[in-house]
Amino acid sequence: MKPFELVNASSLSSALGALGQAKGAVAKAGGVDLLDLMKEGISAPPRLINLRTIAGLDKIAAASGEQGAVLGPLATLAQLAESKALAGVPAYAALAEAAAAAATPQIRNMATLAGNLCQRPRCWYFRDADYHCLRKGGNKCFAHSGDNAFHAIFENDKCAVVHPSAAAVALSALGAKLELQRAGKDGKVATRELAMADFFVAPSKDVQRENVLAAGELISAVKLPAPQAGQRSAYIKQKQKQSFDWPLGEVAVSLTVTAGKIAAASVVLGSVAPIPWRAKKAEAALVGKAADEALIKAAAEAALAGADPLDDNGYKVPLVKALVRRALTQALVSK
Ligand SMILES: Cc1cc2nc3c(=O)[nH]c(=O)nc-3n(C[C@H](O)[C@H](O)[C@H](O)COP(=O)(O)OP(=O)(O)OC[C@H]3O[C@@H](n4cnc5c(N)ncnc54)[C@H](O)[C@@H]3O)c2cc1C
Repeated sequence: MKPFELVNASSLSSALGALGQAKGAVAKAGGVDLLDLMKEGISAPPRLINLRTIAGLDKIAAASGEQGAVLGPLATLAQLAESKALAGVPAYAALAEAAAAAATPQIRNMATLAGNLCQRPRCWYFRDADYHCLRKGGNKCFAHSGDNAFHAIFENDKCAVVHPSAAAVALSALGAKLELQRAGKDGKVATRELAMADFFVAPSKDVQRENVLAAGELISAVKLPAPQAGQRSAYIKQKQKQSFDWPLGEVAVSLTVTAGKIAAASVVLGSVAPIPWRAKKAEAALVGKAADEALIKAAAEAALAGADPLDDNGYKVPLVKALVRRALTQALVSK
């Protein structure tokens, strides 16, 4: 690992200032992903700004009235999994379930929400310093002709990584927004708000980045819409082995059921594309209908329409269809 300077930030504004001062300075939250990339020689930032020394950034504010829940960027996956403000609210349950299913207990205690959203892809060619792949400025995606069992089945023609964040899949289904902050040259802090879908970047737009964060910009909060009457959500993950593992596929759904019919639906697939994959055809199949087994099956078929597997990952199509059926069923039977 190359030497680097470590700055312990005492406030969000001092962190934003410190990030703006040194070229290549990078925020460190739990450090689970960042330090891994530095040890592997994939990333070598000269300066790390430690956000974990800032008090209060891990707060989870419960929804109240018209106001949805507001999550601090440093809330850990363990806190999200255990929070009554999420797990105890059917509309938000998918996020608590996604956090609980990720990684290991030790990692969930360190890993933060913002770090989870901004972690880099787990593709073994990207993570190996010996492969100068497209995402690292090279000229080919090694997964296309290599071992692509865990790679994308949608949007995989340029770079076949899968998006790694479980929280991103759940938050996309819940219609969350991200609050981003950045210090200008005059030191003034500018704030913008983005929908999850506008945060992540597909390879067709820019193959070398996963999100639209500008240099020196931080996620300062994650905002969930207020729960609607009759809204329930669910998250399901399938791993290769039953102990901790990355997903082969994952699905988050949010359904609002009124007068026996599905009034609103969102279905988001994970580990199938370089971004959280919104299954719009499945959503269209569900809205306005009363749920039964045939409808759930039709929605699952629609969710995987257009999938284009590589040589080794065709198994993901039936697997993720089954996950969609299970997630929809779980959301519909939840109270
Ligand atoms: C064995 C193992 C299994 C795992 N399994 C899963 C899994 O199943 N599902 C899953 O989702 N994840 C999984 N992970 C990934 C893990 O959850 C992430 O590495 C972790 O969430 C990263 O969070 P962090 O706080 O440590 O981020 P860091 O490593 O500190 O940072 C990661 C990135 O986020 C940026 N960042 C951090 N905070 C902010 C902020 N506030 N604003 C802007 N940028 C910020 C950093 O600059 C860096 O680029 C696994 C990891 C391991 C090692």
